[in-house]
Amino acid sequence: MAKGINYGLTVAFILVVVFIPVFFYKKSFCCSAYGTGDKSGHSFSIHGMKDVRNIAPVLIIGSGPAGLTAALYSARLGFPTYILDGAQPGGQLTTTSYIENWPSREKILGTELMDAMRKQVMSYDVTFLNEDASSVDLTQWPYTVKTSDGTQINALSVIICTGSKPILLGVPGETEFWSKGVSTCAVCDAAFYKDKHVIVVGGGDSAAEQALQLAVYAKKVDLIVRKDAMRASQAMQEELKKLPRVSVLYNNQVKKVKGTSAHVTSVDLYDSKSDTMTDFPVDGVFLAIGSKPNTQMFTGQLRLNEGGYIEVQGHSQRTSVEGVAAAGDVEDAVYKQAIVAAGEGSKAAIDTQHFLQKVGLGPDALDKVSSQFFIKKKPIMQVEIDSISTIEEFEKEVANSDVPVVLDFYTPSCASCKYMLPFYQEAAQQLEGRVKLLKVNAEKAKDLATKLVVVKVPAFLVYKGGKLVARYQKVMNKSKMVEFISQFADDQTATID
Ligand code: NDP
Repeated sequence: MAKGINYGLTVAFILVVVFIPVFFYKKSFCCSAYGTGDKSGHSFSIHGMKDVRNIAPVLIIGSGPAGLTAALYSARLGFPTYILDGAQPGGQLTTTSYIENWPSREKILGTELMDAMRKQVMSYDVTFLNEDASSVDLTQWPYTVKTSDGTQINALSVIICTGSKPILLGVPGETEFWSKGVSTCAVCDAAFYKDKHVIVVGGGDSAAEQALQLAVYAKKVDLIVRKDAMRASQAMQEELKKLPRVSVLYNNQVKKVKGTSAHVTSVDLYDSKSDTMTDFPVDGVFLAIGSKPNTQMFTGQLRLNEGGYIEVQGHSQRTSVEGVAAAGDVEDAVYKQAIVAAGEGSKAAIDTQHFLQKVGLGPDALDKVSSQFFIKKKPIMQVEIDSISTIEEFEKEVANSDVPVVLDFYTPSCASCKYMLPFYQEAAQQLEGRVKLLKVNAEKAKDLATKLVVVKVPAFLVYKGGKLVARYQKVMNKSKMVEFISQFADDQTATID
């Protein structure tokens, strides 16, 4: 009996002294919910990370409404958060004009909405990496993400918000005349089509919106719709009917884009009802036939559906890989609304919090490796950039310059403009003597902005020999900015229509 009691006591002693502490130790640092790894064999332990540098507890790829909302939530949940802005910071909304379906705002410019979101996010512990992701490895943990400037980030969790990009028709001439009359962004290029005849291909809301933007400048806008009805909302279709310059050509398809070496002059238009092909003269072709998700980087690493969209589990934003969530157009083939993307961004951040906490990597545990977090390098030197504000100054600086001149139109309240200023300064420093960079405060320089048809900021106008050769009205990341300006420094003949 006494032997039995002794045996029982020994077992109890071993349980209390050895197994229970080990169990709790594992629970706080390792992988209670996932064993020592998930189904794919990942081991989510903070041990073994002694030598790992450049850690991002939460890394968000993409900075549209989904990415920025995920960042806001993640930072407010206590996780140091990093965001790779992508090639087009702010996402597709920065190429839209007015948005009238964002709750609480009757009417707001896409750029203004994204600026307001970015400003709010910037007040938290969020590091904007100002670059794009060039490759991702989700096969081992920490997940590694290489950025467009060659940095490797070791991410403990990833939220993918890479959005989607416009689909092209795939007809002859489309690529050849890209930027020579073929475009997918009316808000960027509409001003070039003053008094011209343009077509918009597509019958959805995007096509209707592009037609409305183009009608401000073009003398005629024809919507080319392949069926006998448009898919756009009734409200949008009613707006189009109010504009005498806009017509809809039903049952028509563009089969070929044609032109001179410099620009589009016509398209082959096929009328499926009369079964006839016409050579249809046009100055510009705007494509709005839907979009496809930016998931190439994740092919073979995450479960994608037939359309290439990332699959998420049930009502969550969790993907097929633990600790990797997705939100917005990259996983939403149906709704594709900014407000939905923002909602999904918040869900993705909460899912990520649950993951990090389950594997014992809550904010307290992460404190232990905080010295290994990625630290963004500060720019070595900030060059001052000259400003102009009058038409006289413009004529003096632009007409008499031996090198190409870039004008950066901004307003003091534009957050994207502020965000891009360091990149503009970096380009000025790198390309000194080869390109002249100037700033223009569009609020002060109203006459100049009117003369140069600058209707929104940020706007970059490039002049060579006093002539406008390029206009870029989107937000750029650092690499894209340097690349954009360099092409004019390196190739004195470069032009962008
Ligand atoms: P949609 O998928 O809604 O529409 C695509 C259009 O392009 C359809 O009319 C389709 O024709 C046509 N199309 C597709 N392929 C071809 C082709 N090869 N040749 C000719 N025509 C083609 O895409 P959108 O980008 O317009 O809209 C996506 C989502 O975003 C929607 O949910 C929309 O409501 C939303 N959105 C909302 C806005 C707003 O609220 N302000 C603005 C813009 C978009 P068919 O109908 O014959 O298939």
